[in-house]
Amino acid sequence: MTLAARKIRLLMELRRNGITDTAVLRAIEQVPREAFVPAPFLDQAYENLALPIERGQTLSQPQVVARMTQALAAAGAGKVLEVGTGSGYQTAVLSRLCRRVYSVERYRELVGDAERRFRALKLHNIVPRVGDGWNGWPEQAPFPRIIVTAAAPDVPGALVDQLAEGGVLVVPVGGRSRRQELLRLTKENATVREETLGPVRFVPLVSGVPEEAPKPAGRIQYSGPPGWSLA
Ligand code: SAH
Repeated sequence: MTLAARKIRLLMELRRNGITDTAVLRAIEQVPREAFVPAPFLDQAYENLALPIERGQTLSQPQVVARMTQALAAAGAGKVLEVGTGSGYQTAVLSRLCRRVYSVERYRELVGDAERRFRALKLHNIVPRVGDGWNGWPEQAPFPRIIVTAAAPDVPGALVDQLAEGGVLVVPVGGRSRRQELLRLTKENATVREETLGPVRFVPLVSGVPEEAPKPAGRIQYSGPPGWSLA
């Protein structure tokens, strides 16, 4: 089966599984997931699966990307803050829906890889940076939309502070052993309304930016954490 045929099959599967927002489906159709998938997994680019990326992180399952993007009501939003760039796939999907995406990732190597993909795909409305997403991006706040693609033990307070009035924050909350739940927070009249959107499985949101040793030449490290195939 060709990649194009697999992509159509995936889009139909997403639709069957509750993704009704046509703008979200169109954005997923426009972004070549194969550009974000490590070479050994290329033939699985349009399977509805999470895949391992460098530094033991994961490229989220298309179903999860679609569900979170739909929950965020990202279409037509101005500025979006994304915490956890990873491969940059979710970032690219958001970039097709919003004016500008600010994306922060703690691993320099992942930011570098993602930037190269954005450039190759001519996605010029993405501003990536290395940093600790727990702190958000104060210089660019407030944000009408914020999405976190790693599981936080609690909702990071800085992100709630940086949410604009009327804004929406989508964040998985829970731990490795604790059940994770996808939350949607909406700021209305300076109060925050919280909804639970069901169970999810993500790698943890970790504080601080790691010191990185240069990568050994020619070696690929795919040490996916336990459960990566479920994220
Ligand atoms: N949306 C990404 C998901 C990547 S996994 C994709 O589909 O490819 C989650 C990412 O969050 C990892 O790359 C991890 O390094 C990053 N992360 C974890 N804690 C973070 C933090 N405090 N600040 C920024 N990024 C963080």
